[in-house]
Amino acid sequence: MSGKDLGWVADVGGTNIRLALVGHRGEILREDQCSTPPVPTPMAVLDVLESLCAKMPIDRRAVQGLVLGIPGVVDSGNGMVKLNANLGWRDVPLEKMGRERFGLPVVLQNDVRLHTLGEWKYGVGRQLDGAKTFADVVIGTGIAAGLVVGGQLLQDPATGEIGHLSMDRSGWPCGCGKRGCVETVVGAKGLRRLCMEAGHPVESFMEDVVVPLMEQEPWAVKVWQTFAAGLAFGLSALIMVLRPSVVVLSGGIAGSFMHWQAMLWEALADELFPGALAETEIVASALSTRAPYLGGSYLLFGR
Ligand SMILES: [Zn+2]
Repeated sequence: MSGKDLGWVADVGGTNIRLALVGHRGEILREDQCSTPPVPTPMAVLDVLESLCAKMPIDRRAVQGLVLGIPGVVDSGNGMVKLNANLGWRDVPLEKMGRERFGLPVVLQNDVRLHTLGEWKYGVGRQLDGAKTFADVVIGTGIAAGLVVGGQLLQDPATGEIGHLSMDRSGWPCGCGKRGCVETVVGAKGLRRLCMEAGHPVESFMEDVVVPLMEQEPWAVKVWQTFAAGLAFGLSALIMVLRPSVVVLSGGIAGSFMHWQAMLWEALADELFPGALAETEIVASALSTRAPYLGGSYLLFGR
């Protein structure tokens, strides 16, 4: 390699902060992660990133820049995090703070859109004609979708917030202030609550939420049916409005897609009229947690 052909890409979440060293062709050379600090001030998050970078010693002169994928409302053009409810941030000039801290160009992007960019350029988007429309539905702590319409990644911060479609006005309170949102039952947080209500508190997500489904325990099947119904409600809105060629299900929970796929088809059949899915393929992401890193590489090197 010669010149500036390396980059750092960080995915800053409410639970973990993940960092990768990427190459200019989208190679993921190293990755590491750390828990998000209990008091996640912007300075504390930059401290964590600095220590993760320090564990991957390289010649800084070869680094093109640092991409920060941040949840919430991110104004990439002005380098500001306008609002991040999970981290408790409002109007944080993170691009400038990062640039001063690392002495590198810093690019901010909303985490879901960074994910979608990776999926578009290196995942399912690669097989699509540029004019086609696709949705990358990221199921993590909550759920939101990144949208590519007519060969453009939609940048508006509120686009694709299907997690906050209300299914039931008298339902469970949501972090957004409304009730019965899709996100109250879809995503790690919603699933944990559903398990708790069923009398099965969660310590390990895999052991306590996914394995009981694989073993077809009746309470777990019920929990996942509620999840599938919520997901189908959110997806049907996307499908009816956009008619995407492909809906990609991404994020950690999509890793267990095969175990709840049949429930999802059943729930979609309840939401959509017959034939509505004829033009849309629903698949699980093959990139998994690599998608944001690949999106970041694309932002830095544009390949
Ligand atoms: Zn909500």
